[in-house]
Amino acid sequence: MSLQHSLYDSPVFQMACRQFDLAADAINMADAMRDRTKYPRRCVAVALPIKRDDGRISVFEGYRVQHNMSTGPSKGGIRIHQDVTIGEVAALAMWMSWKCSLVGLPYGGAKGGIVVNPLDLSFAELERLSRRYMQEMISIVGPHKDIPAPDVGSNEQVMAWMMDTYSNHVGHVEPAVVTGKPISLGGSAGRREATGEGVAYLVRAYLQDLKIPISDATIVIQGFGNVGSAVAMALHRWGARIIGISDYTGGFYNPKGINPKKAIDYIAYARCLKDFHEGEEITNEQLLELPCTVLAPCALERVITEKNAGRINCRLLAEGANGPTTNEADKILEQRTEIEVIPDVLCNSGGVIVSYFEWLQNLQCYYWEKEEVFQKLHTMLDKAKDSVDYQMRKMKFSRRLAALTLGIQRVAEAKQKRGLFP
Ligand code: NAD
Repeated sequence: MSLQHSLYDSPVFQMACRQFDLAADAINMADAMRDRTKYPRRCVAVALPIKRDDGRISVFEGYRVQHNMSTGPSKGGIRIHQDVTIGEVAALAMWMSWKCSLVGLPYGGAKGGIVVNPLDLSFAELERLSRRYMQEMISIVGPHKDIPAPDVGSNEQVMAWMMDTYSNHVGHVEPAVVTGKPISLGGSAGRREATGEGVAYLVRAYLQDLKIPISDATIVIQGFGNVGSAVAMALHRWGARIIGISDYTGGFYNPKGINPKKAIDYIAYARCLKDFHEGEEITNEQLLELPCTVLAPCALERVITEKNAGRINCRLLAEGANGPTTNEADKILEQRTEIEVIPDVLCNSGGVIVSYFEWLQNLQCYYWEKEEVFQKLHTMLDKAKDSVDYQMRKMKFSRRLAALTLGIQRVAEAKQKRGLFP
């Protein structure tokens, strides 16, 4: 297959494909396995007409890309964002495949998208759009087919509407069709903060490896949404100092420390960080170059590029977001041996791990306490970290290449053993 003629062709899809090619070369993957492991299995694009509060009808575009279903039902979030494209959704679906495989979950990878700025919709309009999206996807999703979850712009409430729409269609309550639901509808204890908690847990573990006491660590976080705010809360609780935070409106820098709870409370009523003023106002570009112990990009893709990779000034780069570092920036970071990278497929895997726990609890109708959820999460993260670091040392790979090769290899092996169809 040729990338130029692919429906998915876009900078972020090219980036994910290039990562795949590098990993496939590094493990000498047979040519016959490459394209079928790399390209998404299928995609669906839909028109989503909804009635606006003023009576007008608006039509939005929605996507679902199912990248790999050879290792189990596919799994992946739904992004609601004005700039989301099918190519971006395909790249995110690929990364879900490698991530689930790396941490040993019985899932393939998928992702969804709806092209709209959710802040431009009222609560009622968002409900109609979420329900309509699920209605259009009913034939391809399900607890044993494909299980959506939240991503940028979607949340527990969106998952509740989607679960309700699906349940009404099948005629019985089916909580296992989506994860990231409210606890009252079968959500898991700890799922809301799981991605950020996992990022923070790995940051703490790598700081320990580097012999840096967490109380000496300064943290800068780009993106203060579901992931970024939970990273901040956990690291703050463990004694680190959060010195920079940002969202799409810009950022704030305070060397004395920012209380993340204050920022969360502020966003709860202002909807963004604009005019937060708990420090010096800075741009997102400036924020990424602040001197700090840990830089955690937790917003969108491709923010660390060949332009700023030489200037980022941290000891640990913790990729809470998917795909924050371009391939060109990666080459620069590989030369900068003073910076350790926790690559996205490992770093933010806590989200899908606890989504898996939620799905298990739904299927068993047996619910766990938060302590049990986090204890199991930590065990899986420790195991994934150890296997990535072992692969890195054994093969003399970068940590990203180590993580990607482990994830990709398992998917390729499953496809090879099953035959050509899956
Ligand atoms: P979210 O919508 O809750 O938060 C996104 C944050 O990024 C917001 O604060 C937003 O203002 C900010 N942002 C958006 N555009 C920005 C820009 N141009 N510059 C700076 N900040 C910007 O989304 P989320 O769920 O926290 O997801 C963030 C990242 O984490 C995404 O890459 C997502 O794919 C990844 N991720 C999320 C989960 C999850 O469970 N939600 C799991 C794994 C990975």
